[in-house]
Order: sequence, then structure tokens, then C-alpha cells
Amino acid sequence: MSVTLLRPRRTSLLSSGELDRARVLDTLVNNLDGMAYRCLLDARWRMIFVSQGCLALTGYSPAELVQDAAISWEDITQSQDRARVRAHIEAAVRSGQRFAVEYRITTKSGQTQWVLERGVAVADERGETVIEGFMSDVSSQREMLEALRQAELRYRSIFEHASEGIFQTTPDGSYLAANPALARIYGYASPETLIAGLDDIGRRLYVKSGQRERFRQLMALHGEVLNFESEIYRADGSRLWISENAHAVRDAHGQLLYYEGTVQDISERKSYQEQLERQANHDMLTGLPNRILLADRIGQGIARAARLGYFLAVVFIDLDNFKFINDSLGHGAGDELLKEVASRLRQCVRHSDTVARLGGDEFVLLLTDHYRVQSIIQQLRRVLAEIARPLKLAGREFQIGASLGVALCPQDGADAATLLRHADIAMYAAKSRGRNNFQFFTAELNRVAAERLDLEAALRRTIEQDGLDVHYQAKMDHRRRIVGVEALVRWQHPDLGAISPDRFIPIAEESGLIMPLTVAVLRRALAAAHEWNQRRSTPLHLAVNLSPRLFQSGDLVGQLAALISESQLPPGLLEFEITESVFIGDSERAVRLLGQLKDLGVLLALDDFGTGYSSLSYLRNLPLDIIKIDRSLVTGLEHEEDLAMIARAVISLGQSLRKTVVAEGVENQAQFDFLRYQGCHEFQGYLLSRPLPQDGFTALLEQGAPATPSSFQPLG
Ligand code: C2E
Ligand code: MG
Ligand code: MG
Repeated sequence: MSVTLLRPRRTSLLSSGELDRARVLDTLVNNLDGMAYRCLLDARWRMIFVSQGCLALTGYSPAELVQDAAISWEDITQSQDRARVRAHIEAAVRSGQRFAVEYRITTKSGQTQWVLERGVAVADERGETVIEGFMSDVSSQREMLEALRQAELRYRSIFEHASEGIFQTTPDGSYLAANPALARIYGYASPETLIAGLDDIGRRLYVKSGQRERFRQLMALHGEVLNFESEIYRADGSRLWISENAHAVRDAHGQLLYYEGTVQDISERKSYQEQLERQANHDMLTGLPNRILLADRIGQGIARAARLGYFLAVVFIDLDNFKFINDSLGHGAGDELLKEVASRLRQCVRHSDTVARLGGDEFVLLLTDHYRVQSIIQQLRRVLAEIARPLKLAGREFQIGASLGVALCPQDGADAATLLRHADIAMYAAKSRGRNNFQFFTAELNRVAAERLDLEAALRRTIEQDGLDVHYQAKMDHRRRIVGVEALVRWQHPDLGAISPDRFIPIAEESGLIMPLTVAVLRRALAAAHEWNQRRSTPLHLAVNLSPRLFQSGDLVGQLAALISESQLPPGLLEFEITESVFIGDSERAVRLLGQLKDLGVLLALDDFGTGYSSLSYLRNLPLDIIKIDRSLVTGLEHEEDLAMIARAVISLGQSLRKTVVAEGVENQAQFDFLRYQGCHEFQGYLLSRPLPQDGFTALLEQGAPATPSSFQPLG
């Protein structure tokens, strides 16, 4: 084939039906972008034919390349690509396949040009193998791809080497992409392990629940989040503060695809911030809150006290001989002392309380959630005892005292400044009374506190000397026959005379004397009841009161069991009276202990029924045998229809639960008759008998109960 053959021939229009194939092919071949060719399979890739496109592609005219021209295709092919191209084409020829290969040529003007050569080996007219194919200019594609590759490389490098974490996450909370920095911040070995391991961002990443929701809400609202600060869990469970900047990525239709953003580890900044805050609000020596934070806490305490109806106590503390220690042992020892006092004070308060240091040897306690002055007094005494414990300074043992001044909110002030001033005044009063004591701002409370202290000491002495007395009050049935007796403790104070149990039982409860008191009463009452039962044909039940406080600590059941087995009274004749307040606090423990008491064989009575919260579920589920209707429901029931109605309801409730129903505080015949008519089983009260000393009750038993005239017939 010669070059001349390839020149477009001018031909007339073809007659119908006849196609000038050669001409069509010619036109096609010479008008394509690129170069059609046929070449030999020789060492120089000599061209037999090239199309017109040759000029545009290589800068050479077809004539310069074909046949025995000086320049072969091998020459044009750049040397670094030659071997590869040849190997590629020869392999295709051997296997009879088409080939496609990209390589560089040098154009006539010396420029590099990328070409894509596509071809196939065919047999020519003489049966020899030649290659036919097509070459096109792919320089611009190559350039574009290369530019893309470079860009991708650049971005990848930013992604891989950024010090900020970079992520893409799905709206439902799993990772599409993460960079090494993110893996490092979150504590994962690699981005891959992060993506695989952290599959529920909302629950597994954020410490605060609902944080992911907030993130998504902000995204929905603004399309982005900025400086979104959160505490997160790292892979090993440790915590870290991060800040996120992110935006939502949407498709062409506005459909949310994923979130994309960056993460910064801000732990250092956070802890620095916290440190600054601490420094501003805390005393550096002891680490306690300082005056600024204290004022804040007092404010909160006042609001809380008002809301809950509790007292807030502001207690000003001044150490008694601090100046002496500081001057004689030096500031180092002084500092040690202050730190020790701070730590002891902290041990005396509850979680919600505050211990602050105002400076020097002045501390302030903020005691919250007290609803009785007595419990504040209790706590202050613990504070004094703690401070007074000996301590070692510079190798020597010291004991120091403190003067405490107390102001109570609301009565002594309703703002921080007033409360502190009044507590300070009270503290000076304490100082002037000598060391190691406390004074209330209000004189009346000081009297109460002092009196209480005296009473407690006297009660302790009386119990130690077994000086408490027990009186006995009869319980009678509807025919006024004595069926039981309640033991009631009595205390004859040497100076003050008889003191009511309502006054000294709370003191015993708060000062750890309730157990010894109970033991003393029970021991005596068991002995007395045994003696009475010896002389009777019908059994006489003994009822003893148990304070709710007994259920909170110590080996209650063990101690009672020991006393019962020491005595000779059958346990079936013993009743323990408890009140509903047993269930305040650790009610599970109380229920367990009651079960254990029942196992001793005794009976259980619910005292003062109708005054507490009287939950029906207690009545139904507890191992109770007896319900004692409180005096407040009995007193006046003959005049007040409401009371009568409640009493009636309680009695029928007790009956339906198959409990023995006892009415206490029966003072007149009308009450007795009404209660008896309603079906109450037993009666206790001044009408029948006052509490009597042991001898008196023995006499009552011997004389027998007088017959009662009654307007009602007793019920079966
Ligand atoms: P309580 O167990 O409900 O005892 C009944 C109280 O009502 C007794 O008061 C009794 O004297 C009084 N009372 C009985 N009948 C009448 C009446 O007709 N009219 C009036 N106005 N009062 C009557 P007391 O002896 O002053 O005891 C008061 C509370 O002290 C007792 O209430 C009980 O809760 C507690 N208590 C008494 N002794 C002990 C004890 O040994 N241990 C414990 N933990 N508490 C005791
Ligand atoms: Mg009782
Ligand atoms: Mg009672």
C-alpha cells in the first residue's frame, strides 16, 4: 500500500445501492482525531501506512514515516518506554489478542507526547504478520489524571499528617473515615480499628448522654457545629475533653449524606481552666473552698433550706491556741496544723456540707439539710471532739481546742453576709466562755444546747447505775380482763424530777444510749412478766417498745435473743412495739430484721398506727400480729364524727387483715364503748389503768379488774 492511496479521492456521487467502501473508509480514517497505521513487526516498527492524522499527532507528515523513511516508529518512541511497549505488543501478538498500551513519543518539534496505541496483529495480503491499529493523543487525559493524583496526594497528606482529628460519620453514628490523629486522640491503634470499634458514637463516645443528639440538632439547625466541646471516653475508658468543628454534607437533592469535621484535644486547656478556677475559689494551703466560693455555697444553701424547709447552719470556727503554736513552733508547724484541722473537719461533714477556710485559723462549716437543732448540736460535738484529738507537730504531741459560733438560717439571717456576721459574734461568745465549746447566735438555742448536754450526761450516769425505772400499763379485753401489759420506761432526774420519755428517748437515740436503755428496760420487764405469769392461770403478754434507731446499726437481733433466752418468759408471750418510722431509710434492712425477730417466736405490734404514713402495703406484707391505734385517733372520737369514722375504718382494716387491734389512750367510757362496739380487741388507757410501778401492777393483777357497767353488749 502506498501513501498516495490514502489521499482523499474525488469521486462522483454513487449510484443508488452501491457503496464505495474504500472511499468511506478513507474519509473516516483521515478525519479521525488520531492516526491509523499498519506497521511491520520488526525491530524498528517500520510503518507501511499511516493516515493523515500523523501530522497532528507527531508533527511528521505521513511521507516522512512510511516505508524506508529515515525515521522509524521505534525512533519516535521514547527510549524509556521502548522495551515495555515491545514486550506488551509481542505478548499480545503471541496470544492472538488485541492490545492497548500508553507511552511517550517525541514529536518532530522535540516535544513529549503521550499516545494510546490500540492494535491487533493481522496477516497482510501476502500472508505476513503485520500490525494494524490506531493511535490517539492522550496527553490531556494524562495531564488531568496526573493533576488529580497530585491533588489527591496533597489532600491525603493533609488528612494523614494533620494534628487535628478528621472524621466523616454517618447520621446514625458510625465512622466512614478517620485519620491517624483521630485514632491517636481517641486511643485507637489505627484509623481502621477506630472505625471498626467505635460503632455507636452516641453511647460509646460521649460521656454525657444526649450529647450526640445535641450535635445532630445543631447540625439540623445550622448545617454546622462550631467549637462543640464534650467529654469523651477513649478506647481504654479514660476520659478526655475535645472540641469539634463539623458540617453536614448533602447530595445534589439536599439529602444528608454524612457529617465531616475535625476534632481537637482540649484536655490541657480544660484542666488549665479548672486549675485557674480552683485557684480563684480555693485556699491554696488546705485546698478548701475560700471566702468567694463559700459565699456562693451559702447562697445555694439558703435557697435549698427554704425549698426543703430545713435549717442551714453557718458555723464559724476559730482555733483556740493556734497563735501559740504558730509563734513558738514556726509557720511550718502552723501550716501542718491547719492542714490537719482541714482534713479532720472534712471527715466530720456530709457530702452536701461545705468546709471553707477564710484565712489564718478561721474556718467555716456549712451544714445543710438538718431539720432539727438537736442533730446540728450532735454534729458540732463531733467536730469539737475531732479537733480536740491529740496531734503530733515537730515531734511533740499537742491538743488544741476550737470555739464555734453558729448562725441558723432562716432565723438568724437570710443572706450570706448576715449569717457570717452572726456566726462570728456567736464565735466570740464561745471564746469568752473558754475553749472547746460552741455557741448559737440565739440565746434560747444556747439554753437548749446546754440543757441537752446536761441531760445526756445525767441519762448516761443513770443507765450506768441501772437507775431507770419501768412502769407497767395494763391492756384489757372487752370484758376488762387484763390480757397484757406494756412496759414504759421512767426516769426520775435527781434535780428535775420525773422526765417524760418523749423528752429523753430522743436524747438516748442520738447519743448512742438507746441500746443500753432498751436492754435495761427489757431485762427488768422480762423478769417481772415471768413472775406475774407464774401466779396466773391465763397468760399475760408483755409489750416492750423498740426505737426505730435500734434497727439502723449494731446487732439488735442477737442482743434481744440473748436477753430472751436468759429470761424464763416464753417468747410467745413477748410483743415488740415498733413504729412506722422503722421503714424510713434502709427499709429493706428493717424488714429483714423484723423477719429475724419473728423467727425468735415473739409477736410484733405496729405502735401509733394512724399517725405515720400508714401504708397499706406495710400492713399486708409485714409479719405484724398487732396494730395499736394511736391515742390521737381515740381522744375525742366520741365528739368528732371524723375521728370516729377513721377509728372505725382502721379497726375494720385490722380485722380484715386478721390482726389483733388494740386501742391506746382510752380515757373514758364513751370511747371504750364505741371501740368495743366496733370490734376492737384490746384496750389500754387511763380509764382502765394508768402506768403503774411493778408493785402497783402486781396489786392490780391480784385485785382483778372491776366489772364495767356498759351501754353496749360486748361482742363475741
Ligand atoms: P407509746 O409506746 O405509744 O406508749 C403509750 C404512751 O401513752 C405512754 O406514754 C403512756 O403513758 C401514754 N398513755 C397511756 N394511756 C394513756 C391515756 O389514756 N391518756 C394519755 N394521755 N396517755 C396515755 P409514756 O409512758 O410517756 O411514753 C411515751 C412514749 O415513749 C411511748 O409511746 C413510747 O413510744 C416511748 N417509750 C416509753 N418507754 C419506752 C421504752 O422502754 N423504750 C422505747 N424505745 N420507747 C419507750
Ligand atoms: Mg408503745
Ligand atoms: Mg403508742
